[in-house]
Amino acid sequence: MIILKNINKSYGAKKILDGVSAGFDLGETVAVAGKNGSGKTALLKIITGADVRFKGERTAPASLGYAPQENALFGDISVRENLAFFCAAQNAKFESFELPKDILNKKVKNLSGGMKRRINILTALIGDPDFLVLDEPTANLDIVYQRLIFDIIIERKKRGKSAIFTSHSEKEIKSADRVYVLEDGKFVYEGAGNGFRDALI
Ligand code: ADP
Repeated sequence: MIILKNINKSYGAKKILDGVSAGFDLGETVAVAGKNGSGKTALLKIITGADVRFKGERTAPASLGYAPQENALFGDISVRENLAFFCAAQNAKFESFELPKDILNKKVKNLSGGMKRRINILTALIGDPDFLVLDEPTANLDIVYQRLIFDIIIERKKRGKSAIFTSHSEKEIKSADRVYVLEDGKFVYEGAGNGFRDALI
């Protein structure tokens, strides 16, 4: 379980998160929604431990994979070398995710934007973490891969694993078990995926 209690986060004088509390259970899918600039990325960074400069309490397990919005890959080495690095860092067996050889051998900087995004998400799956945290996972991806990501999320859920993701897609948000909607640093909706207030998004 991941627990956030009374989280306050500011960038300079600007308050981004204003006393936010949230909990994330094993086996559930949770969407974080809200307008551009509402603090979704800031919240995910705190959930994952990528940002430790906040006030409040965070409890989280070690078993967590994170695909940030900006690709977190090494551009100058091949896809295979990137995967090898992240597998070693997670103490996991090398996994090629059945990617074709020509992709595995390419330097990341020479991949298309969509392919970089896919590899970035695959690295978050290494070691089959209990919590998968994805920041706008389907942005800039074609429909086939948008579906694939949600197939993975659902398959993992059946095995008691969790996903926490941000999205601007009403369909994706409604598919989540629970939704948190951020506005002005607070949650203005916290409840079932199929009940969130569309007007806020
Ligand atoms: P969202 O993911 O909902 O679009 P973000 O969490 O990225 O929102 O950003 C929330 C607010 O914090 C925005 O106003 C953004 O401009 C600001 N912000 C984000 N990162 C920084 C930073 N490193 N320094 C200063 N302001 C930032």
